[in-house]
Amino acid sequence: MAISAVKGFRDGLGPAACLSREIEEAAAGVLESYGFSEIRLPILERTELFARAIGETTDIVEKEMYTFEDRDGSLITLRPEGTASVVRALVEHHLDQKDSILRLYYAGPMFRHERPQKGRHRQFYQIGCELFGREDALADAEVLVCVRDILDAVGIPDARILVNSLGDENCRPAYREALRAWAERRQEGLCRNCIGRLGRNPLRILDCKVESCRETTAEAPVLRDHLCDPCGEHFAKVLAFLDGLGVAYTVDPRLVRGLDYYVRTTFEVTAEGLGAQAAVGAGGRYDGLVAQLGGPRMSGIGFAFGVDRLALALEAARPGAEERAGAALAPAIFLVSLGTEAEADALALARRLRALGVRVELDGGRSLKSLMRRADKLGASRVLILGEEEVAARRGTLRDMVGKKDEKLAVDFDLQGPALLDALGVER
Ligand code: ATP
Ligand code: MG
Repeated sequence: MAISAVKGFRDGLGPAACLSREIEEAAAGVLESYGFSEIRLPILERTELFARAIGETTDIVEKEMYTFEDRDGSLITLRPEGTASVVRALVEHHLDQKDSILRLYYAGPMFRHERPQKGRHRQFYQIGCELFGREDALADAEVLVCVRDILDAVGIPDARILVNSLGDENCRPAYREALRAWAERRQEGLCRNCIGRLGRNPLRILDCKVESCRETTAEAPVLRDHLCDPCGEHFAKVLAFLDGLGVAYTVDPRLVRGLDYYVRTTFEVTAEGLGAQAAVGAGGRYDGLVAQLGGPRMSGIGFAFGVDRLALALEAARPGAEERAGAALAPAIFLVSLGTEAEADALALARRLRALGVRVELDGGRSLKSLMRRADKLGASRVLILGEEEVAARRGTLRDMVGKKDEKLAVDFDLQGPALLDALGVER
């Protein structure tokens, strides 16, 4: 019997893989223009890293982690997110001693044991970044502008950025108590999960996706009214910077995010066409996390985009995006070698063209008819035929598959560099 992939784990095939890569490259290009450099992180970490960084009472740690016992008995986890690993690497390699400001980005698969559905998989891809060592509102604004620039570069400018401030250790405790006291009087409207959360982490009730909880908490006190002066000023400054640039955002006073480590500015990006899984990205400030993981007192702010959801959003915004990305797979030249005499020349020519950056599909060993059929199927724009006669004359037969199908051109295939490309009519 054939073996299938594990539930929730998917193969990225052809056009879908192309689209994911285009999105990752667009996002990485923007991040690099902001001075972020890539960090390649391990996929496995010690389980305690996530328990400590993300928080014991979060969905991720409570029920979504892929945790295994390693052969030596230690507990390891497939990373569910990137920030904890970046901070672990910062602390482990004393990166703060090399520079007081760090800008790092990462990309790759993350793993969460969730119920698979549209836009929700057990292995999914993120691209994200972290900026360490800056506490000022300018840094928050810059990060949010970067989010907007990535959305523009990817091609979903209509995505919404929701922002909120979570306050800090000075003002959040009082709000947490106010919210808990309020929620204790409204328990009949809350799900069991939320009632359980009240004792340990009441803020999470604002994040619950159960409809009755959402309705109940619509009237809950909001953090914004409880911010201390420094937090309030910080938030106002961030928003003023965005207003100044005309970067669109919506303040969402209920946005709390699932992870415990956030303080002050927090945000989520939502897009149309994704159903219940509307969040394409999220992030925020986490000033205590580095110290919490044994490092220096160093503030941080960052975000992660879900690449799979960006792809869905892009397809919804611009139907055919995946197909268009897949079109890049079509060879510019379909090189046909007819008969054994032409094989060596065809192999050498294909290599020279590829070195010039041309996408070449080399094929042969069959009838011209079946080779032409395949060229058509691949969507090749040009076919270059090398057979016995062509090799003798050092002239290949070129067929333009897009326009004049019947017109054949004799092309000197010993030409070099740009002259060869021009003769073949391939764009440089
Ligand atoms: P959600 O509320 O949808 O569960 P989240 O708050 O758990 O999202 P984060 O931990 O903030 O998500 O991760 C950042 C982004 O990664 C999300 O906005 C989303 O685009 C993507 N993401 C998270 N979980 C998944 C998943 N299981 N499958 C696909 N993408 C995901
Ligand atoms: Mg989640």
